[in-house]
Amino acid sequence: MTFDTQRRDLVAQAFSSCFGGLPSVWCRAPGRVDLMGSHTDYNLGAVLTLPIGRDTWIAARPNSSSEVRLHSLNLGADASFALDSNEKCPEHPWIDYIHGVAVVLQEAGLPLCGFDGVIHSTVPLRSGLSSSAALECAAATVFETLGAWSLDPVEKALLCQRAENHFVGVNCGILDQFTSCMGRQGCALLLDCHNLTSQPVTIAEGIGVVICDTKSQRQLAGSEYGERRAQCENGARLLGASALCELTHEAYISREHELPPIVAKRCRFIIEEHARVAALAAALSAGDHPAIAELTAASFHGASHLYEITSPAMHTMMAAMLAAPGVLGARQAGAGFGGCMVALVQVDQLDEFAAAVRSHYFAATAILPEIYPVSAAAGAGFL
Ligand code: ADP
Ligand code: MG
Repeated sequence: MTFDTQRRDLVAQAFSSCFGGLPSVWCRAPGRVDLMGSHTDYNLGAVLTLPIGRDTWIAARPNSSSEVRLHSLNLGADASFALDSNEKCPEHPWIDYIHGVAVVLQEAGLPLCGFDGVIHSTVPLRSGLSSSAALECAAATVFETLGAWSLDPVEKALLCQRAENHFVGVNCGILDQFTSCMGRQGCALLLDCHNLTSQPVTIAEGIGVVICDTKSQRQLAGSEYGERRAQCENGARLLGASALCELTHEAYISREHELPPIVAKRCRFIIEEHARVAALAAALSAGDHPAIAELTAASFHGASHLYEITSPAMHTMMAAMLAAPGVLGARQAGAGFGGCMVALVQVDQLDEFAAAVRSHYFAATAILPEIYPVSAAAGAGFL
């Protein structure tokens, strides 16, 4: 039996024991890893992003009511909401991600059907690979299918972002939802968060992407994220720009002295990180190993010294990744503060790389990390 058949059986069985019978609709949406561009999305800059094979499934069946009833296999929990309610669920905050999607879709004038559904995700939760957007985009796809209307994928991404911003209350940029909706099998995306456009980027043969999960909790991620975002917005305002990435590197440097020191540190990271995005896209397509090493090292250095989003576990993981065979470059992923990191590795040495990182990191922390290669997967859709 293939892994997917096993997964399908697991979800179908859970559906049958929760609701009886079988689901009629199977939707999925991927998680993502950013290869370059930490925190550039809300500064309306660029991100090099990879939709990954780890994804969230929702197996659903309309229930002829105005209720959505869900079971999450990852959490072993049940929860429900009424389509005409706007109340969050403090007891099961996870269902707010789907409820929020229902609220914004209805605000956009789209008719929704109640359904019963089982959720199963292979995206680790709260680890920086965006399980939240995968859940939102899979849910929007279920509503779309059952409602018999269709949304442009960029519009779907914007509505899911709106659900997370306004209903869940997380002030994220567009990166996660855009990647989850617009993913294409076989290529990374060079995303322009200002225009909401993307270009496919083919990674040169022989280069693999490896997730290195520190298995350390993302502490303070919420409050620190909000603080970084506010500092960037303050910097942009002081320089008369509507978003930081509107400024060229040159224009920024000539006026950096006008900013308070802490704001200048944050802004400088964003301006430099933004410039590294197109450079890494070019280096990965060309298979330019020295440039990959240099750009990823500079990204981690800036994340550590300027944006200050690294943690001790991330530094240990960085050392483990850089010492392992086959490594071409390594850096943080997601918002930082623990969670997952990402390495670019020669594909003929993936196993040796993973084994070396595991033993190095475990020896230093007594935590067994998860190390696995990922490749580019299609965006939200059907199974
Ligand atoms: P990330 O998006 O990096 O994984 P977030 O904190 O943004 O981390 O989102 C994680 C939250 O999304 C979880 O705590 C949970 O509330 C919700 N979530 C994601 N996937 C699932 C799932 N499969 N089942 C239930 N809730 C989920
Ligand atoms: Mg998230």
